[in-house]
Amino acid sequence: MSDVNKWTPELASADRDTVWHPYAPMPSTVEPFPVVGADGVRIRLADGRELIDGMASWWSAIHGYRHPVLDQAARDQMDSMAHVMFGGLTHAPAVRLAERLTALAPAGLAHVFFADSGSVSVEVAIKMCLQYQRSQGHAARTRLMTVRGGYHGDTFGAMAVTDPAGSMHQLWADVLPRHVFADRPPATLTEEYAAHLADLAARHADTLAAIIVEPVVQGAGGMHFYDPEVLKVLRAICDEHGLLLVFDEIATGFGRTGELFAADHAGLAPDIMTVGKAMTGGYLTMAAVLCTTGVAHGISSGEAPVLMHGPTFMANPLACAVAYASTGLLLDGTWRAQVAGIEKLLTAHLEPARELPGVADVRVLGAIGVIEMEQPTDMRTATKAAMDEGVWIRPFGKLLYVMPPYVTPEEDVERIAAALVAAARASGAGSAA
Ligand SMILES: *Cc1c(COP(=O)(O)O)cnc(C)c1O
Repeated sequence: MSDVNKWTPELASADRDTVWHPYAPMPSTVEPFPVVGADGVRIRLADGRELIDGMASWWSAIHGYRHPVLDQAARDQMDSMAHVMFGGLTHAPAVRLAERLTALAPAGLAHVFFADSGSVSVEVAIKMCLQYQRSQGHAARTRLMTVRGGYHGDTFGAMAVTDPAGSMHQLWADVLPRHVFADRPPATLTEEYAAHLADLAARHADTLAAIIVEPVVQGAGGMHFYDPEVLKVLRAICDEHGLLLVFDEIATGFGRTGELFAADHAGLAPDIMTVGKAMTGGYLTMAAVLCTTGVAHGISSGEAPVLMHGPTFMANPLACAVAYASTGLLLDGTWRAQVAGIEKLLTAHLEPARELPGVADVRVLGAIGVIEMEQPTDMRTATKAAMDEGVWIRPFGKLLYVMPPYVTPEEDVERIAAALVAAARASGAGSAA
C-alpha cells in the first residue's frame, strides 16, 4: 500500500501552523485527529485506533469508504479524462448523470444544472428564482420566504436564507439581504401554523420570488424534523401567489430520511430542488440544481435569456462518473431496507437516553438519530466519550447526532447508538456539575 497518508510529527506541526479547519480559528484551539485511511464504515487514525463513522462524513458517505464500485468508476473515468471544461463541451458522464437524477427526482424536475458544492447550488437556485420572476415581468420580486431553523450553506446568498438567530451566520445579519422568515415548522401541522404561513406570504407576495426550505428535516439549523403536511401548505401558497417552491435536499436527498427524497414524504414536487452531499457517495464535491420546464423556459424566454452561472469545474467528469455509480447503487432499492433497519435500531437504542439528566429530546427519522441536550455540550467531552466507545461523532451546540452510512452493519449501528448515549451521559454529567 502506498504511504501517501502516512502521518508524521512534521505534518502535525504544519497542520497547526498552516491549515485552517472548518468553523475554527487560525491557529486552531482544538487539534484534529489525523486520519490515515478509511474502509467500509471505519476511519483509521494515525495512532492505530479504528472508529466507526457515525457521521458518514457529514451525510455524504452513504455507501461507506472504498466501495469497490465507486473506486472502479473513479479509476475507469481517470483512464479517459479527469476533467474538461463544460462551456461549449459536453461528455457522457454528465449526460448520464443528469438523466439519472431527473429519473430519480420527484416528477417534473426535468433539467439539471451542475454545481461544485451545496452552497453554490443554493446560490444558483436563488438566482434562478429571481431571474424567473424578472422574466415574468416581476422585477420587484427579489426576496425569499423561508422558515426559522433552516440551514442552506455558508456563502452569502445561502447564509441570507439560513436562520440568523443562533446560527453560525448571526455575525452577518447586517450585511445580508433581508428575507422573510416564518416560524419553525411544527412536528405536527396545526391550523394556526398554516394560517401563519399563508398570512406572511400574502403580506409580502409582491416582493417575494420564492419559498425555500429543507423539506421535513432541518439539518445544521437544529436537526429538527417536521410534518410533511407543511410542504403541502407551502405548495398551495406558492401556487396561489405565483411563487416558486425550492426544496434544499442537499442533506435529505438520496434516501437519508427513509424516502428517496424528503419531498416524497408529502408526495409532491418543488419547482426547483438542490442536491449534493451524498450524490457522489462522499467521494468528490459535487451538487446539482434540478428545475421544471416551466422554470427553465421562463428564464430562457426572458430579457436575459441565459442563466449567468458557470463554475470552472462544472460537471467535472470524474465527479459525474462517481455520482452516476453512487446513484446507481441506489437503484435496486436495498438502501430502503438498510435505512429502515438503522431507523429501527437507533429508535430502540437511543430511547433510553430520554431518562438521562440534561437530555431534552430524543428523535429518529430514517438513518438520522438525535439526542438534544438542554445545554450546549462541550464538544471535546462528548467526542471523547464517543471515541472511547470506538465511534466518531461531531456534536454541535446542544445536539448530539448521527447519520451513519446506509451499509453500517447492525452491530456497528448498535455501537454508534451506545456511543451517542455515552456522549449524552458525559455531557449531562458535565452540565450538572
Ligand atoms: C450542507 C448543506 C448545504 C451546503 O452544502 P456545502 O456542500 O457544504 O456547500 C446546503 N444546504 C443544506 C441543507 C445542507 O445540509
